[in-house]
Amino acid sequence: MKLVLKLIVLLLTISVMGQNTYLHCGKLIDTKSGNVLTEKTVVVSGDKITAVKDGYVSANSPKDIVIDLKDKTVMPGLIDMHVHIEHETNPKRYLEAYTLNDADVAYNAQRYAKTTLMTGFTTVRDLGGSGVNVSLKNAIASGKVIGPRIFTAEKALATTGGHADPTNGAKQSLIGDPGPKEGVVNSIEDAKKAVRQRYKNGADLIKITATGGVLSVAKSGQNPQFTIEEIKVICETAKDYGFHVAAHAHGDEGMQRAIKGGVKTIEHGTLMSDETMELMKQYDVYLVPTITAGKSVTDKAKIPGYYPDVIVGKALDIGPKIQNTFGRAYKKGVGIAFGTDAAVFVHGDNGKEFGYMVEAGMPAMETIQSATVTNAMILKMENELGQIKEGFIADIIAVNDDPTKNISTMENVVFVMKEGTVYKN
Ligand SMILES: [Zn+2]
Repeated sequence: MKLVLKLIVLLLTISVMGQNTYLHCGKLIDTKSGNVLTEKTVVVSGDKITAVKDGYVSANSPKDIVIDLKDKTVMPGLIDMHVHIEHETNPKRYLEAYTLNDADVAYNAQRYAKTTLMTGFTTVRDLGGSGVNVSLKNAIASGKVIGPRIFTAEKALATTGGHADPTNGAKQSLIGDPGPKEGVVNSIEDAKKAVRQRYKNGADLIKITATGGVLSVAKSGQNPQFTIEEIKVICETAKDYGFHVAAHAHGDEGMQRAIKGGVKTIEHGTLMSDETMELMKQYDVYLVPTITAGKSVTDKAKIPGYYPDVIVGKALDIGPKIQNTFGRAYKKGVGIAFGTDAAVFVHGDNGKEFGYMVEAGMPAMETIQSATVTNAMILKMENELGQIKEGFIADIIAVNDDPTKNISTMENVVFVMKEGTVYKN
């Protein structure tokens, strides 16, 4: 009896494995070498890429599926290193902390996740929310909900009154005294506890707000907000759990502390000095540009009443500087990890970042490499994501034009496959 069962399982396995999908790709971007290849067939079996062949290879069996992408440019699924999947900008955003239940946040987030996937981002790094992000990540991973693969920081860490203090802007009776459990750190001991709490809550990495920020209800958008000792302890503790640390930073002093303290990425980097750019290279720290967010806050700040008053001045000061800093950093040789800060602008507009990066001086192919091989490496997924290669996870997208000739085509992804399943064609 046992033997019969085993045989049935074996036959079922063979029949499932026997079905292959053949993608006939007119152009195929080799993200590792930075070349655009022509007339290739990508063979997908289950959730993996099993072969990349020259020419258009015919299917072997009647069960096989052939997808014609002969007039498209095919590339690996994109990775955005900076999104907030739980929320999205709107004029009532500052009330939502007091009006939305977790279930409301979850229903909204589910929609943002689907939009993100459909625009070609098959993996995202979520840099802070309330914990719904962990549930969403798990729901997507188990196939209950459609969305990108999520690596999440769960709740971002801040100091009291800092950029990610969850009760900023509230009246005194509602402020309370959030501590490491809620992501607020004011000592070495708090720093350890806050990281360990994130591990317990299901985070994959740690996010700190090393300086003030634009969209928090607080005076400064750039002051340093952690001591270097606190940052060092956060980074050391994070290492115990295999986490890397991402640091939100606009001001130069806070950025330098974060780099020297051991973070892996600097988010925004707006007021970065030349000296700090050299430090970034020396410490092998990557800049996540978020130019789209910079442009979005600048535009929104001009709409009366869209943001609380304390934010308008910061947005008009910091927002317009982000693209220029990115251009300077790129030219200086700072490593660039594609990331947008989606949620600060509407989810699904992430692809605009490519055009803004090209505008600032980064060649189109390098922007795509940044969103694939570079980001996969930072996520320690370089042997599974970011390339169309035998053995890699079958995350594959396509656009109408060759992005090395027309970068705006990245805003219109027409084919999306994630883990071998086609979500858009
Ligand atoms: Zn952000």
